[in-house]
Amino acid sequence: MCNCFLTKAVIECAQKRKHIVQEGRQIAMKTFQFTEQTLSVIEELGGHMPGGFFVYRAAPPEELLYANKPVFDIFGCGSLEEFKALTGYTFRGMVHPEDYQRISASIKDQIQTNDDQMDYAEYRIIRKDGAVRWVDDYGHFLETETYGGVYTVFISDITEKHEQIESSIASQKAEIDALSDSVRKAHAERVTFGRIAQALAGDYFCIYIVDPDTENFIEYSASDEYAKLGIEKAGADFFALSRRNMERVLCPEDLRRVLAVFNKETVLSFLRRDGIFTMKYRLMLDGEPIYISLKATLLEDEDGSHLIIGANNINTQMKREQEFQKRMAEAKTNAKNDFLANMSHDIRTPMNAIIGYTNIANSHLHDPDKVQESLEKIGSSSHFLLSLINDILDISKIESGKMRLNCGPCDLGAVFRRIEDITALQARNKSLHITYNHEKVRHYKVNADELRLEQIIINIVSNAIKYTPEGKDVALIAEEDPLQAEGRNRYRFIIRDTGVGISEEYLPHLFESFTREQSTTINSVQGTGLGLAITAKIVEMMDGTITVKSKVGEGSEFTVELELESLETELPDDEAEAETIDLAGGRVLLVEDNEINAEIARLVLEQYGLVVDHAPNGQIGLFMVRDGAEGLYDAVLMDIQMPVMNGLEATKAIRALEGDYCRRLPIIAMSANAFDEDVKACLEAGMDAHIAKPFNPVDLGKTLQKYI
Ligand code: ADP
Repeated sequence: MCNCFLTKAVIECAQKRKHIVQEGRQIAMKTFQFTEQTLSVIEELGGHMPGGFFVYRAAPPEELLYANKPVFDIFGCGSLEEFKALTGYTFRGMVHPEDYQRISASIKDQIQTNDDQMDYAEYRIIRKDGAVRWVDDYGHFLETETYGGVYTVFISDITEKHEQIESSIASQKAEIDALSDSVRKAHAERVTFGRIAQALAGDYFCIYIVDPDTENFIEYSASDEYAKLGIEKAGADFFALSRRNMERVLCPEDLRRVLAVFNKETVLSFLRRDGIFTMKYRLMLDGEPIYISLKATLLEDEDGSHLIIGANNINTQMKREQEFQKRMAEAKTNAKNDFLANMSHDIRTPMNAIIGYTNIANSHLHDPDKVQESLEKIGSSSHFLLSLINDILDISKIESGKMRLNCGPCDLGAVFRRIEDITALQARNKSLHITYNHEKVRHYKVNADELRLEQIIINIVSNAIKYTPEGKDVALIAEEDPLQAEGRNRYRFIIRDTGVGISEEYLPHLFESFTREQSTTINSVQGTGLGLAITAKIVEMMDGTITVKSKVGEGSEFTVELELESLETELPDDEAEAETIDLAGGRVLLVEDNEINAEIARLVLEQYGLVVDHAPNGQIGLFMVRDGAEGLYDAVLMDIQMPVMNGLEATKAIRALEGDYCRRLPIIAMSANAFDEDVKACLEAGMDAHIAKPFNPVDLGKTLQKYI
């Protein structure tokens, strides 16, 4: 009696493995990447920052992902809406149109040449009231999975500083203009630049005025710290001298990178192209590294050209940026830990049910109703656990690029029947009205990955059921377009519901991993946010398309379009075949270390009329083949991960034994390691076939029939 139940549960469980049903799961929107979730962490951090801070995508149109309130203030906007209206919510829209090309090229150059992916820029902006202001921009480039390249930027208004410099230049110019020509020439460099440089030196660490032809230079600095470095105040051979000084005072890690670009030719070529040259490095000052941003510009006037080089101490800003990066990293670790915590909770919940009901069944062996009820609960919990594990495996396979389609003969009629069985039950449990219509399908036999096709449709229909309240409607419609090319047809699967709908803001993120629309999701609806990410990826692999239309409060419509090849041949019927599998008289060796797995396999094999011998590891399996009579076994079923000797080694050792029997004996892997490379490893070790665990009894029977 008990064995019979067990076999039934095993068969059901194995058959249902094909159906990845979206049921109760409880992982909140968590991820390891810079995504929706970490963006909310950034928003949280940004909200507490005193200065302007924003994040934008590097790819055109450089759309902003976030900007804090001080950024709106700098632009003279009272709210996010006003700021969006003013700038189009893009980086390009923030920068003064005359400065945009120069700034954009300079930022890209800096990111390419700086190891730390940071840049510094100064540019103009136009405020809401039309006023033009100067800002400085400390940016950091990050490559993210969800948004591609993004820049995180600290920005502040430096207009006053600029005005001070400009008025200083203007007054000096006026002074010089008043002088006679000859005096002006004589005084030009000394007076004008000296004064300007002094004005600047208040803000800068140091300023150099260099004649680009002769390389004669004068240095102005107002900082005592700079004096400590013992650098020449004036002289000739500016670049050669600076490079020598750099070897002495720069942080050794930065030296090579800086020396590679800090020469006259490179600096001038940047200046001719962009009008500005910038670089960043660390100086060692009193044994401490200090971040410096160096900027060079070329000033041309009637006296010729002058290279103006300013070095700025940006230690405070860099520290702020590093602190931000550190907090981001912490936030990511937290997200990962939360994810793992939720995941282990999700795995434990059904595990608890399985263990609990097994105990209940054990202590009520005399009460068949209780045992049956417990087994049903164990069945549904293990089914749920398996679907959860499959989702996680699928997403990790997708993320590592290892997901492959397994195309073959597929019967759409059988696919629809199974989908109906599962979803009708889900709909009934929720008191929903569900309808199915595939009248417009004419070719049911196609070449496709049946399991994945079913997974796509079940995922979408299950979601429609999940996110549609009681009493409303869900419909699954399958259609086939008139023949396109010889033997190929276009199929359309439409899943329509009159449920809660999806907001416009969330729609673009619908197919991202681990995202869920919590605002409209009633608390009781659980999920991982993985289902649609997997679905969209599989549709893409099938060269199909998935589209969605939705309106909050009215419902959603998902459409999947696939082009599939039709097959003329009749497909074998699984169930009919199951009854005809007869392996009576055969003998197999089952090499399996897990006792429960061995018992389950034995029960199924015995149902097919086989005699089963069991070996608990590869080495004993090897001995049983070696020491048994020639031709004793018709096949070996080999687990892979086992103690003492694993399945791959055992297979190789059996193949290495003397005699034709050992070379030809069919060895079939039965393993939970079911990725393509695992299958390949089995075949390379000398096995004949591979069956994934949990196995489907019919598949196992059919495979054995081929070899016995
Ligand atoms: P989940 O495990 O959360 O269901 P999915 O990737 O399947 O994950 O779906 C992601 C999110 O998309 C859901 O959390 C839900 O907010 C939304 N969604 C999916 N399908 C529908 C639908 N038919 N109606 C309303 N919202 C939906």
